[in-house]
Amino acid sequence: MELVSMPGQQAKGKVWLVGAGPGDVELLTLKAYRVIKQADAVLYDALVSQEILDLIPAAAEKIAVGKRVGKHSAAQDEINQLLVTKAYTRKNVVRLKGGDPFIFGRGGEELQTLVKSDVEFEVVPGITAASGTAAYAGIPLTHRDYAQGVSFITGHCQLESRPMDWQGYANSSNTLVVYMGILNANIISEGLMSHGRHPDTPVAIVSKATTALQQRFIGKLSDLPQLAADAALEMPALMIIGEVVELAETLNWFTPASATTSQIHSEITALGL
Ligand code: SAH
Repeated sequence: MELVSMPGQQAKGKVWLVGAGPGDVELLTLKAYRVIKQADAVLYDALVSQEILDLIPAAAEKIAVGKRVGKHSAAQDEINQLLVTKAYTRKNVVRLKGGDPFIFGRGGEELQTLVKSDVEFEVVPGITAASGTAAYAGIPLTHRDYAQGVSFITGHCQLESRPMDWQGYANSSNTLVVYMGILNANIISEGLMSHGRHPDTPVAIVSKATTALQQRFIGKLSDLPQLAADAALEMPALMIIGEVVELAETLNWFTPASATTSQIHSEITALGL
């Protein structure tokens, strides 16, 4: 799709590419909060939690451009075009994404479009799902006794265009965090086991992490497809694979049912941020 811009005419507005974090409104950065409060237009994804959307000023234009598997969504080209168009007509345009915009968020692609159209931008990082999930599920992603490194991968296996590096991911001294992997749990467990990762490797699937609806499903790599097929599992969900998952029972501090943010919410408002 050809991008329409106005050559020779500088866009008046600026685009803020903002990470909204994994769900809990308190995991928003102060900078993201300030930028959202000053927004004239906000283009947001399906993953941004309602409590965060509630922070958008009433006068700002709110545009849902969310993508969810199997649901209607604006194509990436349309989102890119919309961002450029809004930058010509609005002052503070916020592109709000779940987690961190530079981790499986297509933030880079959107910024490349803005550069082509000569639109000014800033990036506000967010807490990515891996960090939020690890913290709230009591699973440190690295630990000197269990894992020397961690890889974040997409399980949305575009297997043909870019083959998965199963050999690398099967390394038993590394933790593997799989985004968007639930529908491919079969391929993932098979791929890892056939490249030497032990079938008893502990795994966790955590859904709606950091929210009052968080759930953890813990098992072994060989059970991953069954865990992923659990009828109680809701999206979004993330997989953590590796020995660190053994710590999930002892470090389990978070009680989803008691997660309440309204108190802090009003404190933030009182601070005038
Ligand atoms: N940019 C986002 C990731 C977008 S990809 C980030 O940095 O977090 C979407 C995937 O993120 C989902 O399929 C899921 O695997 C994961 N995810 C996002 N929010 C999540 C949450 N609250 N709980 C569990 N997984 C989540």
